[in-house]
Amino acid sequence: MSTTLISAPAHNLIGGEWRNSRGGETYEKRDPWHPSRVTGVYQASTAEDAKTAIDAADTALADWRALPAPTRASFFLRAADAIEVRVERIAQDMTAEMGKPLRESRLEAARAAVMLRYSAGEAHRSAGEVYEPSVPNQMLYTRRRPVGVVGLITPWNFPAVIPVWKLAPALIYGNTAVLKLSYEAPRTGLHVAECFAEAGLPAGVLNVLTGAGSTVGAELVRNPQVRAISFTGSVAVGNSVRDNATTRNCRVQLELGGHNPLVVMADAELDRAVEAAFAGAFWSAGQKCTATRRIFAHEAVYDAFREKLLARIEAGKVGDPADPVTEIGPVVNERALEEVLGAIERGKNEGGVVATGGVRASDEAYLVAPTVFEDVADDAFLSREEVFGPVTSLYRFSTLDDVLARANAVDFGLSAAMFTRDLHTVHRFANELQAGILHVNSQTAGADVHVPFGGLKGSAWGPHEQGRAAIEFYTETVTVYQDSPLTSPD
Ligand code: NAD
Repeated sequence: MSTTLISAPAHNLIGGEWRNSRGGETYEKRDPWHPSRVTGVYQASTAEDAKTAIDAADTALADWRALPAPTRASFFLRAADAIEVRVERIAQDMTAEMGKPLRESRLEAARAAVMLRYSAGEAHRSAGEVYEPSVPNQMLYTRRRPVGVVGLITPWNFPAVIPVWKLAPALIYGNTAVLKLSYEAPRTGLHVAECFAEAGLPAGVLNVLTGAGSTVGAELVRNPQVRAISFTGSVAVGNSVRDNATTRNCRVQLELGGHNPLVVMADAELDRAVEAAFAGAFWSAGQKCTATRRIFAHEAVYDAFREKLLARIEAGKVGDPADPVTEIGPVVNERALEEVLGAIERGKNEGGVVATGGVRASDEAYLVAPTVFEDVADDAFLSREEVFGPVTSLYRFSTLDDVLARANAVDFGLSAAMFTRDLHTVHRFANELQAGILHVNSQTAGADVHVPFGGLKGSAWGPHEQGRAAIEFYTETVTVYQDSPLTSPD
């Protein structure tokens, strides 16, 4: 049986069928630009729904892992085709549901298809190594085998690509999956599920649920049939997921928050650095794990950089995310709005000075003006905690030693950027900056599909995601000592 198609994707996909939650409850999602507008109604799934999905994944596992990898890849290529046909619809829905500016939503939707094509290529790459044996007549090799049923728990801020960058390696290596979409932005993940249904994916290989972390997520974490959990989200939730799942020896991978620095050296190309600071801090309203939270400008260029950055913000297009020219739209929901405005107040109370922004920019929409702080102490809240919105702080520094130490003086270690033309400085940055993703002369955000992605320190746990790195998490290595029989069977 293959997965059936539906026209209205506000159901769970379980065992190849689009189903209502057994609990019968649904919830509404609203547009952060027009909060009175309902963008969709989704299943408020229960732990029982999650159990059913896990059983379906378990049932599908044996046949799926037995398929030749290129056959598994054929579903990916068809699903990628299906995504490409509906990029604009996915992008529009993403923008309406979580407020990402359309220009970025379009890129994200298209990238989901590229990821599937990259992962399809894994079917033709090696899944083990051959070694020289120590004795005669022996084959000695390793084999990568699927882990089993995997649980994928995703956030709202990249609602198309994060589900895909987890499910694609999971499935191509022969696992089956239960994907829990974010409560806040399930629509685009359901589009991806539909594209796999259109591709004829066998029933139960990919199961997709909407609903709360406390029901669906918690069941994935505690259910012994789930052999691995890949989680992307906040530090607090991620760490509790890890602590609970590892007590039952479940494999866990976490991608968490960041407090990403951008360093502008005295020899930097200032205009490029300003563009990178603007994009890194404010695109997607600063709601990226890799967003620029701290900007360190060398004292020799601080004033010039500051002036240019404020001018760029003044010229920036802030407003309706559905307008293709908009650069900065609303934050995801009312709670996020309150948290960001609360963080701005706390930043001021701790001595920070607002250079621009610092206020709500719309009576109706959850829009926060792009905000730059100055005079923030290195041990102040804004210098250490992730504020998930369009808020960044500008600091002055005098030496490379000083800035590297201050850039590293946080619990996080996700991404970092440096603008300089000096090779020695680049070398020190590449060797000493404590972050998993380093950018030289480009912004802190951005990730290619074919290279490892992941943080250090408190930003992550377990192997990196994406590219060839994903094989580490989604497979287990076995070593085979294969001695030849001494006689032939006949
Ligand atoms: P979140 O931690 O609130 O939620 C993430 C997911 O966990 C959601 O699907 C949620 O429903 C689920 N969840 C909640 N409680 C759970 C529980 N008890 N058990 C299991 N699952 C549970 O995060 P969010 O607000 O959706 O996303 C924003 C955060 O994600 C930010 O901190 C951001 O930095 C981080 N993030 C990190 C990366 C990365 O790759 N490092 C990428 C994107 C976002």
